[in-house]
Amino acid sequence: MSKFCPSCGEQLADNAKFCKNCGMNLETQQQTQQTTGTQQTMPPYEVQKVEEDHKIAIIIGYVFAILIPIIGVFIGVYLVTRKDSEKASLHGKIIIALSAVIWFISFKLMGY
Ligand SMILES: [Zn+2]
Repeated sequence: MSKFCPSCGEQLADNAKFCKNCGMNLETQQQTQQTTGTQQTMPPYEVQKVEEDHKIAIIIGYVFAILIPIIGVFIGVYLVTRKDSEKASLHGKIIIALSAVIWFISFKLMGY
């Protein structure tokens, strides 16, 4: 496969960084095209993905808060430190509180 200079139409090698005919910089041309392409499509997807990740972490956090409170605390701290989502930090605080309560009860039950 070969590519062509966008400026003068000269046929070039695939790895060519400059046009051998007119001297056009092909690397910057490609990079600007790529960044404008990603900027248009990425932001909504990125936000949705982050929310989705938090949802999974929140569910896992509650499960561990009940089963293994020490891990629940770690997941809670992780969620509290997520500055991009108020929902995540709120659930993080609840998970830490829940973990602490269950941890305390389990210590009581074991007779410590
Ligand atoms: Zn050229």
